[in-house]
Amino acid sequence: AKHTGRNRYAFFTEEMQAISTRALTLGNALHDALERQEFSLHYQPQISLITGKIIGAEALIRWHSLELGHVSPGEFIPLAEESGQILAIGEWVLRETARQLKQWLEEGITPVRIAVNLSYAQFQVNDLPAIVAAILNEYAVPAQYLELELTERIATKDPEHTITILESFQQLGIHTSIDDFGTGYSSLSYLQRFPVYKLKIDQSFVRNMTTNTNDQVIVGTIILLAQQLGMTTIAEGVETKAQLEMLYNIGCDDIQGYYISRPIPAEEFKIGFLQKKQR
Ligand code: C2E
Ligand code: CA
Ligand code: CA
Ligand code: CA
Repeated sequence: AKHTGRNRYAFFTEEMQAISTRALTLGNALHDALERQEFSLHYQPQISLITGKIIGAEALIRWHSLELGHVSPGEFIPLAEESGQILAIGEWVLRETARQLKQWLEEGITPVRIAVNLSYAQFQVNDLPAIVAAILNEYAVPAQYLELELTERIATKDPEHTITILESFQQLGIHTSIDDFGTGYSSLSYLQRFPVYKLKIDQSFVRNMTTNTNDQVIVGTIILLAQQLGMTTIAEGVETKAQLEMLYNIGCDDIQGYYISRPIPAEEFKIGFLQKKQR
């Protein structure tokens, strides 16, 4: 290499500095984001491959910062996890979902089940089921309209804790699903004890499944596993008709992805998917 070790070192520290400066700026802006009402939720529809109809949607947080403009959740959620702000943000997401569901119900629109992502810190809170139940109660939203997503990584950290919390949600009538499935380390013995309704096949396997046999085998195996365990499957990150058709042929139940729709604001989701469904 032409570069001396010293040059590389200088480059590396500059880059490191840029990253940590960005992290500091983000952290500060994040501190005021809730109070300034800079967050919103977008909704991404989920479609049944059998009926072609909408069966639910995933709520995904969006942040428009006064100083920084749009910041993706992939960037700020990890920071919020580190700082502990994720607890307040996570509660806001649950509350906003309940508020939105209540609004649709009051408008005479039958909503679909909305899936909310849970963070590790939220999942560690022992009375999380009670907090969720209180929010649904406050907005008078039936539990059937809420689904909670837990990544496979979080679910397998402390399986006994996971089983306890998932059982509480089951008793409340709240559906749960394992997100990013295939990327973690589920053992079969635990998976069959998790009272979850759905496995969400990670988009990294869906992306190349039409060209990569390994990924195709993984997706097929997850679907068979889910069928054995009495769970349904949803593939995320579906972008093409070819992916949709292959997923249909190997028995996947539902899909979510840009091929159907990007995550969109509540009003757009209502007009394009909820009202269409009722016509
Ligand atoms: P995730 O839960 O795995 O969400 C799926 C991500 O894939 C979303 O990115 C979604 O916009 C994107 N996506 C959906 N369909 C497609 C597709 O067809 N192709 C591609 N390339 N991407 C697709 P997003 O909204 O940027 O969120 C990124 C991650 O941030 C989420 O991954 C989740 O881990 C986290 N996140 C988002 N909202 C929340 C939230 O309210 N709470 C928590 N704790 N985490 C959240
Ligand atoms: Ca998710
Ligand atoms: Ca996912
Ligand atoms: Ca993911």
